Amino acid sequence: MLMYAAMRGAHKEIFDALRDIPVIDAHEHIPPEERRIARDADVFEFFNVTGYHIEHELYRAGMDQQSYLQLFDRNRSIPERMAILEPYWQRCRGTLFGRHVRLSVEKFYGFDDITPDNAQAISQRMKSSNCAGLYKRILRDACNAECAITQCGTADFASDTVKAVVPAPFACVNITRENLVSPKADGSGGMRGYEEGWTAIAVPGFAVPPQGFSRYLECVEEYVNQSRRMGAIGVKMYALPWGVPDRTAAESGFMHVCGGGMLPEYGDNPLRDYVWDVIADICGKLGLVVCVHSGFGGDWRYLRPSSLLSVVRRHPSVHFDVYHLGFPWVNEAAMLAYANRNVSLDLCWLHVISQGMVIDAMRMLADILTPGQVIAFGGDGIMAEKAYGHLLLSKENVAAAFAGIVNEGRMTLENAVDLARRWYYDNPKEIYGL
Ligand SMILES: [Zn+2]
Repeated sequence: MLMYAAMRGAHKEIFDALRDIPVIDAHEHIPPEERRIARDADVFEFFNVTGYHIEHELYRAGMDQQSYLQLFDRNRSIPERMAILEPYWQRCRGTLFGRHVRLSVEKFYGFDDITPDNAQAISQRMKSSNCAGLYKRILRDACNAECAITQCGTADFASDTVKAVVPAPFACVNITRENLVSPKADGSGGMRGYEEGWTAIAVPGFAVPPQGFSRYLECVEEYVNQSRRMGAIGVKMYALPWGVPDRTAAESGFMHVCGGGMLPEYGDNPLRDYVWDVIADICGKLGLVVCVHSGFGGDWRYLRPSSLLSVVRRHPSVHFDVYHLGFPWVNEAAMLAYANRNVSLDLCWLHVISQGMVIDAMRMLADILTPGQVIAFGGDGIMAEKAYGHLLLSKENVAAAFAGIVNEGRMTLENAVDLARRWYYDNPKEIYGL
């Protein structure tokens, strides 16, 4: 049995009280279950991360991109791929990333580590359980998660267990003629092995850049409407520097792109400023949440929560769920929510980035925000199993943050557990209308 943090007193009491509470996993990238089980499973799925994250643990441990991609090459044997992985995994099996992977492997496949000796056996056990009902067994039975909200490029799979958030058109790319019409360059959001078979969000006439800016805006509107009809509960954007929307400037940007030009991902982009503003409006009308990536990832210097202030204020009746506390711009995210009641802070991913950072941050959030403005957990992964280990670590963290407040005499143990329940369950349920 893997050890959790050595907990005592209020920390342990709160953790124990949270151990089996109902939760909502508020942000994932897991593919639809039917696609997960249609693909042969093996142990390397635990290392499948969204896109090509240079920030990923294995890269920081020294692995190069080519070696990383070889982990997913099914033409190579499991021992051969383990030999590639092992030197780097040795360096990160004790990190937070390593801990949440190992907690999950232990829970579902019975080994407390991934080693050259057991990789074959873990893969075999994964194959045996890779069948219908997998997500229910992981999310409902093991995590007590009523549902997971996933963003994986489409929305054709929404069910009781899995809900969808869709990417806004040209969510986070340099805008060229080619991706003017595409929510993202690749529909699966960069998940190795799941690129095929996506049901695109169908908008007639949106397959090629539509004739004229007005027609383009109609297509954007239809994209959001169609996403809603398919079951989406939110649209995802990025905390890029949002300028004031200007239709004339946006139209000339559109013509520039249609003529073969490019508008930048970072920096002035009047087309995106305008179109995203239109989308935020539509989300308000349809009751969709605007989900916003902020901080860590890509060029995080540009992904600051404070960039959202003007758009949040222009749309007071739209709810903005801001991801990742803008890490490293944590104080800006806290300030954005403190100053705007239509903003919630979604702590997805943070619990496996830094326990120290997120514990300190949660103590501040409990002080300055109203109880309804924080969502405690989202796994932010491609593999559903990893939500389990991630959720456990998040509960260590929430319990540590609140225990500090309890020990200072500023909150009772009972209040701490009540607040945690809100953050894990009531808030995502209310914010996303589940
Ligand atoms: Zn994410």
